Amino acid sequence: MSPKPHEYLAGVIRDGLCTRCGACVGLGAGHVTVPDREGDHLPRIGASLPEDLARRIVAGCSGREVPIPELEAAAFSGSPGADGYVGAPAPTPAPATDAAARDPYLGRVELLALAYSLDPDLRARGASGGILTTVLLWLLERGEIQGAVVTGMDPARPWRPRTYIATSPREIIEAAQSKYVITAVNEALPEMERFEGALAYVGLPCQVHSLRKLQRAGDPAVRQVRYVLGPYCGNTLHFSSIRSLLASHGLRDYRQIESLRFREGEWPGNLRLGLRSGATITLPKFHANYLIPFHIVRRCLLCTDLANELADIAGGDAWAPAYEERGKGFSIVLGRSARGVRCLRALEAAGRLRLLPLTTAEAIRMHSHGYDLKKRGAFIRMQFRRWRGQSVPDYGYQLGGFPLARYALEAVISALFALLGTRPARRALECVPPTWMGRLFVRLRTLWKRGTRRIKLHELHP
Ligand SMILES: Cc1cc2nc3c(=O)[nH]c(=O)nc-3n(C[C@H](O)[C@H](O)[C@H](O)COP(=O)(O)OP(=O)(O)OC[C@H]3O[C@@H](n4cnc5c(N)ncnc54)[C@H](O)[C@@H]3O)c2cc1C
Repeated sequence: MSPKPHEYLAGVIRDGLCTRCGACVGLGAGHVTVPDREGDHLPRIGASLPEDLARRIVAGCSGREVPIPELEAAAFSGSPGADGYVGAPAPTPAPATDAAARDPYLGRVELLALAYSLDPDLRARGASGGILTTVLLWLLERGEIQGAVVTGMDPARPWRPRTYIATSPREIIEAAQSKYVITAVNEALPEMERFEGALAYVGLPCQVHSLRKLQRAGDPAVRQVRYVLGPYCGNTLHFSSIRSLLASHGLRDYRQIESLRFREGEWPGNLRLGLRSGATITLPKFHANYLIPFHIVRRCLLCTDLANELADIAGGDAWAPAYEERGKGFSIVLGRSARGVRCLRALEAAGRLRLLPLTTAEAIRMHSHGYDLKKRGAFIRMQFRRWRGQSVPDYGYQLGGFPLARYALEAVISALFALLGTRPARRALECVPPTWMGRLFVRLRTLWKRGTRRIKLHELHP
């Protein structure tokens, strides 16, 4: 017998499966709250939550059940070249596609390219090539959407991300760049439901999972969404990461933060904190990776979606030494639906976006370490949890048959994540200069990339 909706939701939270996508808060009409946004950011399901709302939330919860193949078929109407969902613009004949196939790492691919915005200002402001911002601006300009669900920083609490519906180019541009701390984008669902006009939506993979589940369920909150855009996502961090960085500089009060940017300056950019005192703390992007094992949201370790597999358009960093050395900003971009491809090709034809050829093998190599984490590591970690009698998310597909050595390595990595996430480890970290830790993590990343360079497709199949 399936659990009652309240029990289901309580179970997701109790079992550590909550992704913090925000759907329960958004749909909970005040009965679901987040008591500690600068802490664990976990929702609290009020006993007063009416049964019908609880059911609606379960239908859109990305914590436990995310049947990727089913959701993908529904989102893209099953066959490459077609678009799904009632309310979407009428499908036009599919344009010539570049790949029209499903790749076990990349997901469904109709267009795959190395890309960057041809507007130097947007390219510089974006996290990588400024692709997502360029697409949103184009859609707004052409009247295909009237609003874009984006995540900027909260002017009132500048240390906190804030999701809102942007209706002007300025508001879209202000939301550019990645936010690497928890963003509960789907808390904006009521605003989306009230919005009059077509929307584009930008969300992390777990947030998009929730959105696609709600679309499948025909929920009115997502009826206006015409385009789904999404960054790649390796993981997200607790706000404690920022507190920790402050503490490493002898500062305790995060309310002294006046501005927080995660990818400031030339690509790959810097984590930069501006303080009320006028001081700034800056750490190169790759150095800031040292915060990951100490402050990662542990649910991210059970996520198998790096490349935002259910987004019409997905974008990541083009991590390859040749591009990293050049700076400026390079993205990898994937069009997964006919409407996504149409949009990217139109931007290319209008001279707004550069799309350069990229093979599947190159695209996988750029993120070999990320795929190792998500397409091997996550499945092994889920197996470890099953062996311990703990519940795991169900993504509707299973990968396995990895070499024994990979299981052994994962046991070590998992033990390290468990150890480094403890309070004493975090405290100890704050005694070490971030630049030392940063340099160490740059080396570790290089080794990991080198070690997974030959990541092979056949190892993904039992
Ligand atoms: C938490 C996180 C983890 C990531 N991990 C990886 C990774 O492992 N490998 C990789 O290649 N790329 C990763 N990315 C993606 C990368 O940082 C860029 O977002 C991506 O390359 C798109 O760049 P862009 O210049 O086209 O985007 P931009 O033009 O800068 O636009 C970014 C858009 O994303 C939205 N956005 C930013 N942060 C969030 C957020 N936290 N939640 C919801 N929406 C958000 C903004 O509203 C904006 O519209 C990650 C991004 C995030 C936010």
